[in-house]
Amino acid sequence: MKNKKIAFIIKAAICLAAVIAVTAFTACENEELHYKVAFFDGYDTVALPFDAQSFPDGQTDGVSDTVVKIDSHSELLALCAENGFPFFNQNDENYYSALAVKIREYEEKFFETKAVVLIIKSDSGNVVSEIEKAELKGETLEITLAKPDVNGESEEKATFVYVIELDKKETENVKEIRLNEIRKGTQSDYQPISTFGEMSTLESAYEKGWLTADDVRSVGFYHNGGKEWTGCVCGKCDDENYKGLKCLEGFEVTDYVPQERNPASLSDESVEKIKKVWVDYLFASADEYGFDVSDFIDINNLEIEKYYGTYNGCAVIMFGGIYLQTVSTYQIADTLFYFTDSNRILVWKE
Ligand SMILES: [Zn+2]
Repeated sequence: MKNKKIAFIIKAAICLAAVIAVTAFTACENEELHYKVAFFDGYDTVALPFDAQSFPDGQTDGVSDTVVKIDSHSELLALCAENGFPFFNQNDENYYSALAVKIREYEEKFFETKAVVLIIKSDSGNVVSEIEKAELKGETLEITLAKPDVNGESEEKATFVYVIELDKKETENVKEIRLNEIRKGTQSDYQPISTFGEMSTLESAYEKGWLTADDVRSVGFYHNGGKEWTGCVCGKCDDENYKGLKCLEGFEVTDYVPQERNPASLSDESVEKIKKVWVDYLFASADEYGFDVSDFIDINNLEIEKYYGTYNGCAVIMFGGIYLQTVSTYQIADTLFYFTDSNRILVWKE
């Protein structure tokens, strides 16, 4: 009987605490807002249709350079005119940059229900960041940008651009915008953010269900030069404890018919996007490499060497380049892949 009473008291206390928590939450009027990060680019300054250093409001030493909310198409045009942003200038060499194209998508119709926040800031060239939250504190729109809690940020600055789409109604009373930066986690906790899609290894693409086992088989057929591994011929590789290379004589021409490459080749647009995603990913994993990758990653030197077809909207490719020479066999799904160096097959999903 006594225990029941105690249980009741505890329950009541929990309920009360919950009520207090709810009251406290509403009392300080922090309202989490609906938002979408519609564009992010922090690495490929070529994509920025302006000289990154020439911002009128710009400071070159971090913190925020430009944080502006745009509520209408006319406001957008005025902002561009005032700041010399050539997004609408057809003669500008970066007229078709991803950012310029994105900005021009915001026409009058868009602003009927939505608003846009444009953030342009200078930061360490190898830092990763992500929008943690957007909330309303009274008439202040507070956007929180999280960055990893690590040392070793490059001295060299890069310009980062965020375009955030917000609900017009939710943000109509905003008088001020504040960009709040917090430190959180390590570099590897951050999802590489790319406006140009997602990239995965073939193995994890299969695990995530982007590709089926038959898709992988088809990729393998192309990769292994029209051959498949039909089984061990040396007598060792079938042993459960055998961890080495599968016997290479086991790769044979079979009657398997791979899926047709459709499209037969990648469009120039897809190629550009794939390169950009890859550069974004390389920068995001810079911390794991332990050195500043911005020294040697140049998007202009990236080449897609092999294209294995597009499966369920996912393009399967391999970049060219110089890799560690090492022969290996590697099983993904039911297919054995033969590699002559450390280069691997990648899958891009837009
Ligand atoms: Zn064998």
